[in-house]
Amino acid sequence: MDARLEAIRDTVLARNPGEAEFHQAVVEVFESLGPVHDRHPEFLEAAILERLCEPERQIIFRVPWTDDQGRVQINRGFRVEFNSALGPYKGGLRFHPSVYLGIVKFLGFEQIFKNALTGMPIGGGKGGSDFDPRGRSDAEVMRFCQSFMTELYRHIGEYTDVPAGDIGVGGREIGYLFGQYKRITNRYESGVLTGKGISWGGSLVRPEATGFGTVIFTEEMLKTRGTSFDGQRVVVSGSGNVAINAVAKAQSLGATVVACSDSSGYIVDEAGIDVGLLRQVKEVERGRLKDYSLRRSGVAYVEAGSVWDVDATVALPCATQNELDGDAAARLVRNGLIAVGEGANMPSTREAVAVFQEAGVLFGPGKAANAGGVATSALEMQQNASRDSWSFEHTEQRLTDIMVGIHHRCASTADEYGEPGNYVLGANIGGFVKVADAMLAQGLI
Ligand code: NDP
Repeated sequence: MDARLEAIRDTVLARNPGEAEFHQAVVEVFESLGPVHDRHPEFLEAAILERLCEPERQIIFRVPWTDDQGRVQINRGFRVEFNSALGPYKGGLRFHPSVYLGIVKFLGFEQIFKNALTGMPIGGGKGGSDFDPRGRSDAEVMRFCQSFMTELYRHIGEYTDVPAGDIGVGGREIGYLFGQYKRITNRYESGVLTGKGISWGGSLVRPEATGFGTVIFTEEMLKTRGTSFDGQRVVVSGSGNVAINAVAKAQSLGATVVACSDSSGYIVDEAGIDVGLLRQVKEVERGRLKDYSLRRSGVAYVEAGSVWDVDATVALPCATQNELDGDAAARLVRNGLIAVGEGANMPSTREAVAVFQEAGVLFGPGKAANAGGVATSALEMQQNASRDSWSFEHTEQRLTDIMVGIHHRCASTADEYGEPGNYVLGANIGGFVKVADAMLAQGLI
């Protein structure tokens, strides 16, 4: 790492003790930014990096609610409003027991660069709670969401901060959150949340956008080597919103997706995942992948274990952070991997990224490859602002254009800085310069 940035990094890490994931995200970005500061010493003078690593505002709050037995439950809620240089804070809410400030800050920090790369007017933020929706009834989830919004509503708004979904927050949760926002404020402010239902202000393609976008970005990477998804053997991790739609899009382009996972285990379906059955089990029934294996012949279910034990030419990690480590990366590379597109945020460890890059594997980092979700959220905001709703085809074309544009921005930035094919460098520098320029223009705030 550039020596000038090392000192800033050390200060940031010391100021934010115990936040391992935030540290990891910061270090990964800093490692790309040395050459930018050679060209732009004004960024150092204006302490852009120090400011960028300090969120503009961090909100932590109590979320009390009652379960179906009438017992009082207490969770912790977070919203980190990281950077508004390019637009209102924008980023999802995650409900998962692993959520703490360090996770929310890593996600919010990544979101700044991701949102900048989309070319849309959105700043970076993230939030969530350590609430675990798994095994909870609809009524419990509703009471939790209502309590969460009873505090959050005062911090958000269509010109301030616009949350969306993430792990554990899908259409059901966004519905309960929106209902409570409307009830408290007495305003039908569609632009305050994205990921809404189609009949009440949502956008077509938003549910599919992150998974579709990840595949579109990966397809663009494959094209640079004269190939495509057609005929590839693909492994996807996770079986939630991003994973399912990545499976669907990859197969529509001619790939065979042979495996996917949930937090209990993984399935191997050599004939190619049946997307309809997967949606039925995971989205409609909120069941487990094991149920999929019981309903389709020729499917193996592996309890626990890592889905990265299954060979693939293309890997799409779409579950969670640090799920793919250096050993798994080395095994995949040995067995013929040619490309990785990160649907999840920071799913590959630093060691895994190094393995992929040294082996010349095409590697699309999450902040570029999974930006289709937030980009389509911004399209939802556009539709809300003009009280319009676009067709599926039109919106999907906009998403495709945006993903092709992000790929181009990353690739051309990597070329410009003398590291062709390094999408990590391209994404970090491409996003950073845009935000840094805006921060400089807006003065010391
Ligand atoms: P979902 O909650 O819909 O699905 C998450 C999936 O990952 C589930 O299959 C879940 O398994 C699995 N999973 C979650 N945590 C773990 C864990 N600790 N260990 C193993 N498996 C786990 O979330 P999304 O699909 O929305 O999000 C997936 C990833 O994509 C996250 O990294 C998120 O930040 C990122 N992302 C999401 C966007 C979106 O639009 N939704 C936008 C950009 C990025 P189980 O079913 O057992 O819980």
